[in-house]
Amino acid sequence: MLKFRFDNAFVRDLPGDPEQGGHVRQVEGALYSLTDPTPVAAPRLLAHSRELAGVLGLDEADVASAEFAQVFGGNTLLEGMQPYAANYGGHQFGHWAGQLGDGRAITLGEAINAAGQRWELQLKGAGLTPYSRSADGRAVLRSSIREFLCSEAMHHLGVPTTRALSLVDTGEAVVRDMFYDGHAAPEPGAIVCRAAPSFIRFGHFELPASRGDTALLRKLVDFTIRRDFPELDGQGEALYAEWFAQVCERTAAMIAHWMRVGFVHGVMNTDNMSILGLTIDYGPYGWVDNYDPDWTPNTTDAQRRRYRFGQQPNVAWWNLSRLAGALAPLFAGIEPLQAGLDRYVAAYARADRDSIAAKLGLAECRDDDVALMQSLQALMQQAEIDMTLWFRALADVDPQAPTLLPLREAFYDETKQREAEPALGAWLARYAARLADDPQAAGQRRRRMLAANPRYVLRNYLAQQAIDRAGQGDAGGIHELLEVLRHPYDEQPGREAYAQKRPDWARHKAGCSMLSCSS
Ligand code: AMP
Ligand code: MG
Repeated sequence: MLKFRFDNAFVRDLPGDPEQGGHVRQVEGALYSLTDPTPVAAPRLLAHSRELAGVLGLDEADVASAEFAQVFGGNTLLEGMQPYAANYGGHQFGHWAGQLGDGRAITLGEAINAAGQRWELQLKGAGLTPYSRSADGRAVLRSSIREFLCSEAMHHLGVPTTRALSLVDTGEAVVRDMFYDGHAAPEPGAIVCRAAPSFIRFGHFELPASRGDTALLRKLVDFTIRRDFPELDGQGEALYAEWFAQVCERTAAMIAHWMRVGFVHGVMNTDNMSILGLTIDYGPYGWVDNYDPDWTPNTTDAQRRRYRFGQQPNVAWWNLSRLAGALAPLFAGIEPLQAGLDRYVAAYARADRDSIAAKLGLAECRDDDVALMQSLQALMQQAEIDMTLWFRALADVDPQAPTLLPLREAFYDETKQREAEPALGAWLARYAARLADDPQAAGQRRRRMLAANPRYVLRNYLAQQAIDRAGQGDAGGIHELLEVLRHPYDEQPGREAYAQKRPDWARHKAGCSMLSCSS
C-alpha cells in the first residue's frame, strides 16, 4: 500500500472556487478549483526516477506495484489527497493573456517526506479542468517523455528544476495536429507526475492583480512567503521587498545555469516562470548543439525569436518586471521593486562571471575574462562549433602547447572550420597566456572545468530517438537515456554514442531541432 503524509496547505489556507465540476469558466476571487483527475483506460508505468522515488520514501516494490500506476495515472486517489487545478494568468509572447490556469495539470497533494520536505505531486495530462479552455486536458507521449527526461537531466546537471517521478502510458489515444497543418492524428497519451516544493508561478500573482483584487493578491503573497520562503523574516513592505528580491536572485541563478549548459526553454511566458526559480513546464525546449545565441527550438516563435537562447537573461528580467507590476499595489512606491530588479541584474552578472570562470577553468573571473569568453562565443557562432563538445574538450588543451587538436570533434562544417582556424588559434594563445597567470594546479583546473562543462546533455535528437522507440512499444530508449543523464559530468565508458554531436540527418528533422507547442 502506498502511503504519504499530506499537508495540503494551498487548499487549506487559500480561497477556492465555490463552483463544482469541470466545466470551463472564469474563476474570480479564488486561487484554485477542486478537480479530480479523469480516469484513463489502462495506465502502465513506462519509467520512473529512482532518486525522486527515494526522496519521497518509496522503494522499488512500491513503484512496481499495480497501485502505483493507478495512482500516478490518475485512476485512484490515496488517503489525504485533495486534487485541485490552480488558477493563474500570464503574459504570453509579450501580451497579457488573462486567465490561463492548470488546463491539464492537477495537483494531488503536498506530500511531506521523512525529512520534513514538502513535495507537491502534480499530474500533467490528467484530464479536463475548469481551466482547459478549448483543449482536452491530456498530454501526448512524446511531450511527456521529453518532460520526464529533461526534468531529471536538469536536476542531475545541478540546474534548479521541478522534478519528475513517473511516466505513465494511459492506454488512450490523444488527437494532435503536430505541425499545425490541418493533419490531426491520434497519438499515444501519457501522464507525468511532476514534483516540486511549490508550483506557484508569476502568473498566480498577475491574475488577481489584473482584476484589482488586492486582498487576494496579499493573501497569496503572505502564503507564499510563509510556506515557500520560511527563511525570510521581518514584516510589511520590507518583508515583501526582500521576498521579491529573493525571487529575482533565484531567477538569475536559474538562467545563468541555462546559459551554462545550453538549455533553451522555448516558452518563457510568465505563466511558465516559477516563484522558486525552478525550471518549469518543459514544452518545445531544446539544447544548443552548434553555439548560436539566435537559435530557438520553438517553431511557434521562429519568426520573432523572442525566446531565443541568447535572449533568455533579458526575457527573465522582463518577466520579473511584470511580476513587479503585479505586486505594486502592495507597495507605497515602486523603489523597492526597482531595487529587486536591480538585484536580478547584479545577481545574473555575478552568476555569469562564475560560469565563465568555471567553464574556462579560472580561479576567478576578471573583467578581461568576460571579453575573452565573448570573443570565443563569437568565433563559436561563426565557425558552427558544438557548445557541449567544445567546452568539455577545452580541459584537454595543453596550456604549454595549445592546439585545436583536442577540439576537432566539435566542428560541424569543414569549410567554416578552416576559415576560423587562424582566429581560433589566436584565441587559444590568448587563453593559454591567461592560464599562465592563474594560480590553480593543472589537476585542480581540470576538475573545475569537468564539473561545469557536462559531457552528456539531452540533445534534441537523443530525446527524439527515445520517443521513436517508445512509439514502437519499446521504452528501453527512455531508460538508457535516463541512466546516462544521471551522471552528466562523468566519463561513461561504452556510452560515447550519447556524447556525439548532432548527426546531419537530425539538423532539420521535426523533434530534433525544432518543435511545435503541440503537446
Ligand atoms: P503551456 O504553454 O504548455 O505552458 O500552456 C499554456 C496554457 O495552456 C496553460 O494554461 C495550460 O494548462 C494550457 N494547456 C496546454 N495544453 C493543454 C491541453 N492539452 N488541455 C488543456 N489545457 C492545456
Ligand atoms: Mg505552462
